[in-house]
Amino acid sequence: MKIMAINCGSSSLKFKLYEMPEEKVLTSGLFERIGMKMGDYVFKQDGTKDVTEIALPDHSVAVEILLKELIRRNIIKSLDEIKGVGHRVVQGGKYFTESALVTEESKAHVKELIDLAPLHNKAHLIGVEAFEKALPNVKQIFVFDTAYHNRGMEPEAYMYAVPYYWYTEYGIRKYGAHGTSHEYIANEYARLTNQDVTKLKIVSCHIGNGASICANMYGKCKDTSMGLTPLEGIPMGTRTGNIDPTVVSYICEKENKDPKTVVNELNKKSGYLGVSEISSDCRDLEDAIALGNERAKLTLDIQAKRIADYIGSYYVLMEGIDAICFSAGIGENSPYVRKIICDRLKVLGVKIDDNLNTGRGIPFRFSTPDSKIDIWNIPTDEEVVIARDTLRLTQK
Ligand code: ADP
Repeated sequence: MKIMAINCGSSSLKFKLYEMPEEKVLTSGLFERIGMKMGDYVFKQDGTKDVTEIALPDHSVAVEILLKELIRRNIIKSLDEIKGVGHRVVQGGKYFTESALVTEESKAHVKELIDLAPLHNKAHLIGVEAFEKALPNVKQIFVFDTAYHNRGMEPEAYMYAVPYYWYTEYGIRKYGAHGTSHEYIANEYARLTNQDVTKLKIVSCHIGNGASICANMYGKCKDTSMGLTPLEGIPMGTRTGNIDPTVVSYICEKENKDPKTVVNELNKKSGYLGVSEISSDCRDLEDAIALGNERAKLTLDIQAKRIADYIGSYYVLMEGIDAICFSAGIGENSPYVRKIICDRLKVLGVKIDDNLNTGRGIPFRFSTPDSKIDIWNIPTDEEVVIARDTLRLTQK
């Protein structure tokens, strides 16, 4: 059975078509610069990749081209073969603790949550509507980044110490993000080591351009670093992570700006980019460090310290940690970042083998046999979780 996993952004649409339940990827790719003068799409199939330039006025056009290409490229014979389409949704708020069938009601909730994830949720709905138009008889599923956190976190973890009515009136609380990834990493660690996830205390470090840490206790999210929005937590490519909120009013006064502008700078001009004044890309910072650039080193040290702080606090929260898993663009690919984090965890009994901390793109252990905590690199796979949930819910 063919299942499509979709991740729609405001100007992009990523897709992966699976043969399920085998979890075989038949093709994957990306439509970019939707709504701009000129766009393009990338198709990956059988180890090859091709790019086609074409104007993509809106998401519906991208979906039409995608479906036509699947047939033209002999990936499917008929559109009837596609039995479900799963959509990644960034913000499910308080409403969703699981993936859900797309209905008028669930769409209304996703729409209501646009305030909390303005660019993302709006784009997801546009994607859903484009598929509803193109494949009216196919079931569609929402898979929420927040559902895993919402299912697991207790009020003491998700409540902020703010006036209580902010919570009841406006839904101000921690929702987290990257939940699909954290859930996958925890389950995958258990599978790879032949253990039961419901008996394990795992810290997953999803460190990409966006980055978050999660305490996965006995198969549930106990706490996570992102908050009401992805701005909370550790410093990222362009996001600041935690700061004293007073900074916002202070900069507003000093630079005669409004809070929205300053928060935008905390989202888009801070983190790696802001501190280093070099780049938001980890590879550029590592290159600069190799050339002796102290600011680039400081940038990654600030992040490593904050990540170690979270891991230390999760050690206390879960009364121990069995495993720490690194994932996403930086976590999966940067031995340097993994090392400067692990070196700060010696007090917890963490010992890594530098000779093992070299791989990329595949799961591997790089702790020593006498390390008190098992340290792994586990590439994340959010799309396969989308495909699994879509298969499960379309068969219901
Ligand atoms: P997003 O949050 O946008 O999905 P990714 O998970 O794709 O982000 O991560 C992007 C980050 O991964 C960038 O900072 C990039 O520099 C980093 N990255 C990718 N490959 C490497 C590498 N070989 N070494 C260090 N960092 C890498």
